[in-house]
Amino acid sequence: MTRPLPRHAAGATPKTQPLPAARPEPQPQPVIRLVSVVKTYGTGEAAVQALRGVSLDVAGRDYVAIMGASGSGKSTMMNIIGCLDVPSEGQFLIDGIDTGSLDEQQLAVLRNRKIGFVFQAFNLIPRMTALANVELPLSYAGLRAAERRRRAEAALRLVGLADRMNAQPMQLSGGQQQRVAVARALVTSPSLILADEPTGNLDTRASRDLMEVFDRLNAAGRTIVVITHEADVAAHAKRVVGIQDGHIVADRRITAPGAPPPLLGRPGRGPVPS
Ligand code: ADP
Ligand code: MG
Repeated sequence: MTRPLPRHAAGATPKTQPLPAARPEPQPQPVIRLVSVVKTYGTGEAAVQALRGVSLDVAGRDYVAIMGASGSGKSTMMNIIGCLDVPSEGQFLIDGIDTGSLDEQQLAVLRNRKIGFVFQAFNLIPRMTALANVELPLSYAGLRAAERRRRAEAALRLVGLADRMNAQPMQLSGGQQQRVAVARALVTSPSLILADEPTGNLDTRASRDLMEVFDRLNAAGRTIVVITHEADVAAHAKRVVGIQDGHIVADRRITAPGAPPPLLGRPGRGPVPS
């Protein structure tokens, strides 16, 4: 402590100098921005407030796990982020666009252009091949059949199903079916992948395979928001957000949005000790 203080610390710097910013990196426009979002279902006595003032920014290329107990508001938040529902109060912006100013049709366009959904139940059409299921979202895009086919095949290759393209869902394992669902979510090249409990119906091995696909998608530049209550799944994310009773109660940054996902290329890793 007897060492002389550096010049600026000795008082040469005016007192008005701002403190160093908590986050030195410049923050580009977030892909997702929720500002004091409240969501109320029903009215009067029966009203349920599922979100009670949620604010959250998600940067491009980030990989966010949202964790919380059943009934905490996770799916409500996912529905709002996915433009499937609108806030009762507050604002929701996607790529800087305030969705409050859009009508149903415009919201649908935004959803189709920007977001790929993966749900717990795979939601595949039973008597159609994997390839046909993945081509479906392209049906209305005005693409030629050959181009639809080419893109669907590429998406299926990306999820490791090159050899199962002509199988029907019934002929596939749960893990394979979920990967078909991921290919279907990807085929329109959305910048954001939204997944609600995607491993909820999968065994450990299939969950791990699916999360490896997510890791690679994120490393390739897709933003991912995954809702889960499994620590093994959240361990793949770069940021873990906790939600409880409609409030965000935790927000833990693991690695920077632009960094590779923490478990990329480390198959077989167990849950990260906390
Ligand atoms: P989570 O996905 O975390 O289980 P949800 O977002 O589905 O939670 O639900 C949050 C709260 O909102 C719960 O109390 C739930 O019962 C209620 N809720 C969800 N959807 C509706 C709805 N459509 N109508 C009425 N209440 C709902
Ligand atoms: Mg839910």
